[in-house]
Amino acid sequence: MAEIETPAGVANELRDALRSVLGDAGVVSDPALLAARSGDWSEATKMPPALVLLPRTPQQVADVLALCARHRQRIVVQGGLTGLAGGATPAPAEVALSLARLDRIEDIDAVGGTATVQAGVVLEELQARVESQDWYFPLDLGARGSCQVGGNAATNAGGNRVIRYGTMRELVQGIEVALPDGRLLTMMNRVTKNTTGVDLKHLFIGAEGTLGVITRLVLKLSPRPTASSAALCALPSFEAATRLVRDMRRALPGLSAFEVMWSDFMEAAQEIGGLRPAFAEASPVYALVETQGARQEEDRDQLERFLGEALEAGSVSDVVVAQSQGDAHRLWAYRETIGEMLGQLKPHAAFDVGVPMAAMDSFVRTVRDALQSRFPAQRHLFFGHIGDGNLHVLSGPHGSAESLHRVEQLVYEAVGAVGGSISAEHGIGVVKKEFLHFTRSDAELELMRSLKALLDPAGILNTGRVFAPTTSV
Ligand SMILES: Cc1cc2nc3c(=O)[nH]c(=O)nc-3n(C[C@H](O)[C@H](O)[C@H](O)COP(=O)(O)OP(=O)(O)OC[C@H]3O[C@@H](n4cnc5c(N)ncnc54)[C@H](O)[C@@H]3O)c2cc1C
Repeated sequence: MAEIETPAGVANELRDALRSVLGDAGVVSDPALLAARSGDWSEATKMPPALVLLPRTPQQVADVLALCARHRQRIVVQGGLTGLAGGATPAPAEVALSLARLDRIEDIDAVGGTATVQAGVVLEELQARVESQDWYFPLDLGARGSCQVGGNAATNAGGNRVIRYGTMRELVQGIEVALPDGRLLTMMNRVTKNTTGVDLKHLFIGAEGTLGVITRLVLKLSPRPTASSAALCALPSFEAATRLVRDMRRALPGLSAFEVMWSDFMEAAQEIGGLRPAFAEASPVYALVETQGARQEEDRDQLERFLGEALEAGSVSDVVVAQSQGDAHRLWAYRETIGEMLGQLKPHAAFDVGVPMAAMDSFVRTVRDALQSRFPAQRHLFFGHIGDGNLHVLSGPHGSAESLHRVEQLVYEAVGAVGGSISAEHGIGVVKKEFLHFTRSDAELELMRSLKALLDPAGILNTGRVFAPTTSV
């Protein structure tokens, strides 16, 4: 549960050496800043770091790692602290390495369609900058105003538009990483096709900072869509949603989002977000759909025609098609209340599981029934990026760590039973590591540990995230 503990100190010799690399302003021990850096959005126990380090260049990051490796000082890497798995939450005696000052957009290649950025650039800033140059960075998620592109890569973030553009893994073309021994590995590839041996960037994307600190990235851009249409559909069942997404993919190649919200989520969104119901009658399931293209009127007509036919066929019970960008924002508002819900339902268990589509309906029914019968006083909300088989469940508030743990055990066991994944996009961090065995084999875990030992022999970097440490410092 989220309490704040007291930090342990750092040896004076190391503190002085860090100051000589970063300057006085780059080594912070102000208690207010330490408290602000004591955890992410998860329920992992908050803990102020012993110091906050604020490098300004990739080389400074590498130099800090070399120093800490020599002194066997553990480090936690911090991006925008919007993670939901506790990976950026300090463990006792760790110093926090913040990427906040590596915040430069170095170059936008308007011919090749790439952006070269430092890892601390905030996602929303990047989106706005590339759009001002008629390009588009399609990664999008509710935390866009605070999360950093380095954190997005470290967690292989997904979000709302994976159905069309893929996860962060598909959007990173080149990467620069400071290794735990102080080497700076620069692999800023800018070409689309590159078959020159093992593609090492994939070791660091999704590794949650356990193998290196991402300092710079080359990101793949798409042409900026000039038209966007959205609609909210009320559906008679989840099965209708699976048919709808399949048919939409065939008929509307511009489909860019397909977000499903079950009625429990919609009710909570209306209540917590103070939003008016979109339909006169409640339905069991809702789908928020979006298409992106180049011709506003034609695209919206096409979407309207498609949904009109679905309405006549009875696969959709009711529909609202946005007639303006303002309407579209109002429709997205139901889905985007998740930020407020995460705040209001604390302490909560926030799940981000991958479930095979064929098993999704029965999975949701079984898990919802089990949660409601065992935890009747809590809210259990189901929603997700269902076009990608990514289901979110938010359960809370839970009054004790034991109650949270029982919920986690229940959901992850059910995920294991249907051959799913315990994390589709938020990562493992510290809050899910004891459940990783449900979806990764012993052989896979052993190989992950070997890679960690190879790249971080002193065991200083984000140790204890994803899996338990093998080396002790
Ligand atoms: C309201 C809300 C909505 C969200 N929606 C989504 C969603 O739809 N899809 C999704 O995927 N996630 C979502 N998230 C989770 C979160 O926003 C993402 O995980 C995001 O990618 C984390 O970025 P960050 O910069 O905040 O990372 P942090 O929280 O700071 O760190 C996350 C992990 O990455 C490591 N890390 C951070 N920066 C670096 C770096 N430069 N190098 C190496 N390791 C690093 C940290 O040590 C930690 O293990 C949501 C979160 C919130 C609060």
